[in-house]
Order: sequence, then structure tokens, then C-alpha cells
Amino acid sequence: MNTRNPIRLERDQLLALLEQGEVPSQLLTLCELTGDLSPARRWSSYITGASPWEHRFPPDIAQQIRGQLATVLLTADPDAEPDTPLVDALIDHAIGSPIPPAEHPMLHKEMGLTEAGEVTWTAERPARAAAFKVVVIGAGLSGIAAARRFHRLGIDVEVIEKSDASGGTWHHNTYPGCGVDIASHYFSYSFARNPRWSRYYAKQPEILSYLRDCVTEEGLNDRISYNTEVLDASWQGQHQVWRVTTRTSDGEVRHVRANVVISAVGLLDRPSIPSFPGLADFGGPAFHAAEWDHSVSLDDKRVALIGTGASGNQIGPAIAPTVQHLTVFQRTAHWMAGVNNYALDVTDGEKWLLEHVPAYERWFRVRTLLSQNDTMRPAQVVDPSWDATDGSISAENAQMREELTQYIVDELGDRQDLLPQVLPGYPPFSKRMLRDNGWYRMLRRDNVALACSHNLRFESDAIIDDDGVRHPVDAAVFATGFEASKMLASFSLYGRDGASIRDAWGDDDPRAYLGVAVPGFPNFFIMYGPNTNIGSGGSIIAQTENWSRYIADLVKTMVEEDLAVAEVTQQACDTYNRSLDDRLSQMVWSVTPAGTWYRNAAGRVTTNMPWTSFEYWAMTQQVDLDAFDLTRANTTTLSQTALA
Ligand code: NAP
Repeated sequence: MNTRNPIRLERDQLLALLEQGEVPSQLLTLCELTGDLSPARRWSSYITGASPWEHRFPPDIAQQIRGQLATVLLTADPDAEPDTPLVDALIDHAIGSPIPPAEHPMLHKEMGLTEAGEVTWTAERPARAAAFKVVVIGAGLSGIAAARRFHRLGIDVEVIEKSDASGGTWHHNTYPGCGVDIASHYFSYSFARNPRWSRYYAKQPEILSYLRDCVTEEGLNDRISYNTEVLDASWQGQHQVWRVTTRTSDGEVRHVRANVVISAVGLLDRPSIPSFPGLADFGGPAFHAAEWDHSVSLDDKRVALIGTGASGNQIGPAIAPTVQHLTVFQRTAHWMAGVNNYALDVTDGEKWLLEHVPAYERWFRVRTLLSQNDTMRPAQVVDPSWDATDGSISAENAQMREELTQYIVDELGDRQDLLPQVLPGYPPFSKRMLRDNGWYRMLRRDNVALACSHNLRFESDAIIDDDGVRHPVDAAVFATGFEASKMLASFSLYGRDGASIRDAWGDDDPRAYLGVAVPGFPNFFIMYGPNTNIGSGGSIIAQTENWSRYIADLVKTMVEEDLAVAEVTQQACDTYNRSLDDRLSQMVWSVTPAGTWYRNAAGRVTTNMPWTSFEYWAMTQQVDLDAFDLTRANTTTLSQTALA
């Protein structure tokens, strides 16, 4: 054993580990650690994209890169501080095509190279910060990100969480097969990058455990009031504070005063079970995917799976091997894509590199990000001159349709008879694109039947489909989605002059400035609000960092400038929403008739954002104070000049 080398491995051992890592990230790591750009200049043309398999390195060149990297790792300090100009130069070699310089700071943040993503006091923490209180509703992905910001600023933050534990959607969704379909090395906070994911796309237990670790490491457990539900929040204009009414699971009601309230309740927090005729008479166990009843064994039962979206797509293949019989009730076929490393464990070599070579971890993360962000967008933007009988919306979309169709044909194998039923009749990306969890292979099983039906009727021991066919079942699983458009419906919210959020939004027509602030609701901010869902590829965790950064930045200004009230102006909200509508009208979700939770009952897209991940990141980096009416504690409305 060479004890002088910093990583304490023999060269052969190291080479064996490197063999299992990603060559493009190794090339970038080599350049960063040597401070020499020439290997990237010479070889990065072999990189053809951001995914681990998107390169054409000839074996001898891969070997050279690994050999040189091994030499460096055996002698250099793997923790050396990276040189930013060099990193910027390397970013342009990272995926085979240059990346606009304006986007580099976002990548630096994701690589953990800058504190710029953090919100800090301009000078000393102002004394008045001690009297400021923030209430965050919900301890899921967003709530954790928000609580961390305020905790670090030394602002009193209380997270009110209905459940007995943190984790939000990853706490509630425990169904078989539950996992993420965004690559894990990007589906993690930039401030808590995790080199130890066991899979490239982690499953729910590991994600939940990661989130709980974040809560513990950030010291947030004491900040969370568990088993406590928010009943209502109402703005007390005369006192310039919110009054939040909470109730514990023991029935104890409490009123909390807060300067700022943040909703972090999520978008997919209220499961939806359609009111199927006869459901009340069904005799067997029946539950929603997000409320999985683990006391029920489905083994050896005849099970109905109703719904074939993202949840159904994971549940079906996970339970099919053990149930006696599975009937899949499909209302609409979904498009889905196969992803090379979706079901793979992270190799030992990769894990070792991620854990022991920080530069590799950074390059792997940034390439992972670039393999996810907005990758679907080219096939989602409507080409107004495109005229197609297959309902595609552009040449790229039509090509995608062709590729995905071929994928289905290949996966169906000897069950091509199912093709007419499983081939979607609408353009790809109209609904959320699914990752294939082995769906078509599941349909090929002897114990699985596909029933296509729009209207289902329940009897005590069966489900009746459109054609009157009776499907005997012992248990029913509803993977029928969530009430996404009816945002902020889990508690009552009353803003200025006692107006309810429902007065502003109706049942399902939510609008907000940047998706975060609503006129008439001072000092109230939303995480995962209207039109902030990523529909083109990206990480919702990155969004939680954007929202929390933006809100914390505004709160910081309020405290530093001794402002009691910040309320977004109607004008700012309207102007923002006009450009949002304009961009949305170009996206596939707005123009195709396929049903999707992206749209409300009137057909308007209320959940997805039309911006690229970079555009939204840029919009949320700095608060435009002109968009807000700002009021001091003495109720004097300030002009912006007064703040300057
Ligand atoms: P979903 O994608 O909205 O799917 C709901 C399914 O239920 C659809 O197949 C829908 O059919 C069907 N359905 C609804 N009402 C019905 C009725 N009355 N009769 C028969 N079928 C009915 O919901 P989800 O699967 O819960 O997923 C929601 C979102 O959660 C996803 O889009 C995703 O953002 C997130 N999610 C992500 C993951 C992941 O990362 N892998 C996993 C689960 C969930 P139609 O298609 O005809 O409407």
C-alpha cells in the first residue's frame, strides 16, 4: 500500500474503480486537478451529450484519461480549491456544446462552488431580526429548504407539519415501486449534495432518509411542530401580522402570530379518488396510492389498479409478480420513455469517485443537471406552421412520437395485439412523460389484464367496465392522481380586508407573481405555487432553492430596512402573468386536448411554468422591490427612492 498518496489506494485498485466511472466527468476532473485545459481541448469532442452514455471515447483514449487521472489522484490533493476561470472554461467542454456564460453562475451554485446561492445579512444581523417570526406550513421538500434559510439567518421560524414526521410527499407516498424519475445526483439539495445514492434514480425509502438527514444536519427538528395542522391563516392588517390557527392531533387549538407566512404544502398533497358509482358497496380493501395501506397484503389477491400515470406506472410492475391477478384499468394510454440507467445501482467505482474526489462529484452533478434540465423542451414547443394529421405539434415532436412508438413496439414483444390500446393518440409531452418502469413487460405477464374504460362501476366484488364486462377483484388501488389545480385548499387563507384566496382564485384558477406572491395577501408567499411546476425536465428541489432564496431575500430586506409589510402589486402580478400566458401558449400542454393535471377545469395551464429552469432561476435571484408595496411599521407606504 502506498501510504504517501492521499487516497490510500494502489494504482491498480484505483484504475479498477475508475473503470466504473463516467469518462466525460473523469476528463473534466483531470483538467481541473491539473489546471490544464489541453486534455479537454483534445478529447471533449468525443462527448456527445450530458447523460453518462452520451460519448464516443475510443477505448484507448478512455484508458489514457483514466491512467492520467489515476496518476494525479495518487499524488494531488483531491480537495484542492477549484479555479473558477478554469471551471468556466471546462463547463463549455462538459456536454459537447458550449453553455451560455449567463448560465454558469447557476451551475456554480449547483456544484457548491459559490455561496452566492445563500442569503446572508448585508452586515451584522440586525437586532430587530430577533422579533421577526416566520411560519412555514409543511415540512416537505419546500418547507425544509425554507426553514433552513431562516434558521441560518437567525430568524425565528416555526414549521407547522400535519404529519408526525418530515418528508412531505416522500413521507406520504410509500407505495410499492415508489421512487424518483429525476436523476438522484441532481434530485438533491445543492447544499446537501449526496455522493452515496445507491441508485441513479433512488427509491422512496432512500430519498426519505436523505431528507430526514438534511433536517437533522441543519438542526431543524426543533423548529418543526409535528402532528399540527393549520386550520386557517388570516392577515391582521391593523397589527401587520398573520394570525395562524393550528390544531394538534390531540385537538389542542393554538393561535400563532407571524410576520410572514409561507405555504410549503406542495402541489400534489391532496389525493383524488373519483366518485365511482358503487364504490361505497365495494367489499374489499381500496386505497389511494398516496395512502397505501401496508396492513393489507395484496399477495394472492385479484387486484385492480386504476390509473396509469406516474404512480400507476411504478405500482403495476412492482406488484404484478406477487399478486394473484392484476387488472389494469386504463382510461388513456400514456407515453413513456426508457432510460438506460433508470433501474441501475450506482457502481462501486462511481460511488467511490463521488465520495472521495470532490471535483468528480461536481462534474458528475453538473452533467446530471444538464442531462435533465429542459431536455424535453425542443419537442414541446408548438411550431405554428406544422401541419400533421397525427396530432404532433412540430417536427421534433413527430420524431419523438416515432421513437417512442418504436419503443412500445419493441417492449411489447409477442403481445403486439396490445399496441392499439397502449399507443397514445395525442402528441408526446401533452401529459407528463413517464419513465418506463417495465410497464409493457408487465402487460405481457399471464396474470395481468388490461381493461380500457372511461367509466367504471363498482360492485361488492367486481368492477364493471364500459362494455359491461365484469372484472372480479378483491382489492382496488387508486393511482388516480391529486387535486393539483385547487391550490392552497388544505387550509383557509384570508388576506387584506378578510378576502379569501378562493375569492381571488376561485376553485382552480390560481395566479401569482413568479408563482410566489399574490396581490391582497401581504407577507404571504407560496412555494410550489401557480405555474412553477417543471414540465420540461429538471429538479423540483432546485425550484425549492429558488423559491426559498427569493422569499428569504425579501424577508432579509424587510428586516434590514425595518419594513413591516411587503405586498406584491396587482400591476406586477398582471404584467408577469401576461408574459407567462404568452409563453405558455407556445407549449404543447396548452394546445392539445389530452387530459392532464397541468390544466384546470377551464383548460388553462395552472401548474406548469413555461420558462426554462435557467430563466426561472434568473428571475428569482434578485427581488425587484418595485414589484412590491412596502410599508413601515407606522403604515407609511414607502417609495423605492426612500429605500435606496
Ligand atoms: P396522474 O399522472 O394524474 O395519473 C392519474 C391516472 O388516473 C391517469 O391515468 C388518469 O387517467 C387516471 N384517472 C383519473 N381519474 C380517473 C377516472 N375517473 N377513471 C379512470 N381513470 C382515472 O397521477 P399520478 O400518477 O398520481 O401522478 C401525479 C404526478 O405526481 C405525476 O405527474 C408526477 O409529477 C408526480 N409523481 C412522480 C413520480 C415519479 O417521480 N416517478 C411518481 C408518482 C407521481 P387519464 O390519463 O385518462 O386522465
